Amino acid sequence: RSKDQGGGAHNQYEPKLHVHAEERRVMEIALRKALDNEEFSLNYQPVVSADTGGVMGFEALLRWTNPEFGVVSPAKFIPLAEDARLIVPIGEWVMRTACKEAMNWPSTVKVAVNVSADQLSDPNFLDMVVSALQDSQLPAQRLEIEVTESIFMREGTGATEVLDQIIALGINLSLDDFGTGYSSLGYLRKTRFTTIKVDRSFVQGAAKKVPESLAIIRAVVAMADSLGMSTTAEGAETEEEVKMIQKLGCRKIQGYYFGRPMAPHDALDLFRNFDPDAVSQDDRAA
Ligand code: C2E
Ligand code: MG
Ligand code: MG
Ligand code: MG
Repeated sequence: RSKDQGGGAHNQYEPKLHVHAEERRVMEIALRKALDNEEFSLNYQPVVSADTGGVMGFEALLRWTNPEFGVVSPAKFIPLAEDARLIVPIGEWVMRTACKEAMNWPSTVKVAVNVSADQLSDPNFLDMVVSALQDSQLPAQRLEIEVTESIFMREGTGATEVLDQIIALGINLSLDDFGTGYSSLGYLRKTRFTTIKVDRSFVQGAAKKVPESLAIIRAVVAMADSLGMSTTAEGAETEEEVKMIQKLGCRKIQGYYFGRPMAPHDALDLFRNFDPDAVSQDDRAA
């Protein structure tokens, strides 16, 4: 690490703050070169049908492996990339790579790509997505874009209009980490999401029979059904959690129980005995 060991009598708290800022700065410099140095890769985590357990899609999750910092968690470097205005080029790499790699999978299997608010407000975003679909030949119906409620927090960025255009292109749109942001049901009235992804905290609570978590998942599933949206339960790790989710009626499940985020060749391996008839092609409720 680039910690400055140079001595001197410092205030006890000063060096810590200094190291923190210095580490951020050094990491930002490394992040600027990461695309050119091909330090990014995508891992894919299966999203399975709650009914059949069949693979319906994968979520693409970005990984950064740097010689100095090792494997850096996206929870750490995505905010840094946003602050450094690097999320647009990095996000373009993610979109193009995910679309290309999804072409190796059976034609019923979707790929979900996370998109930040800064990307959505980039004026070239839609052109970039269309170009990624054209270059890869991936049908729009096989792409899913994941956004969080935070995109609605900014006034005047035209987020709703961009989301409408995503839907008009035939791309699936999901609302990630539902229930953890400042949810306003007004957004669900304005935007026809394909899927609501129920955050892992509710899934864990429901399996522990926490009445509030149970009530919230039940209500979200009922609401999604009436709105013609699907539901995915995030972060199911145990058999108890999976059983509870199935009982509560979520359509899809994603979590370590069925598979951790994995390298592209491991994702491909899952299709050795793939039965395309075991999964439905359409996400939306009839
Ligand atoms: P997310 O979109 O909610 O992705 C799900 C996260 O939950 C992933 O963490 C995944 O590894 C983790 N997860 C899945 N199943 C389980 C489980 O059963 N138990 C536990 N404990 N965790 C589970 P990951 O890969 O560290 O990504 C963290 C976040 O970073 C993502 O949350 C997403 O917000 C962001 N992110 C990842 N890749 C990208 C990207 O390409 N672009 C953007 N803008 N954000 C990304
Ligand atoms: Mg996500
Ligand atoms: Mg999520
Ligand atoms: Mg989450």
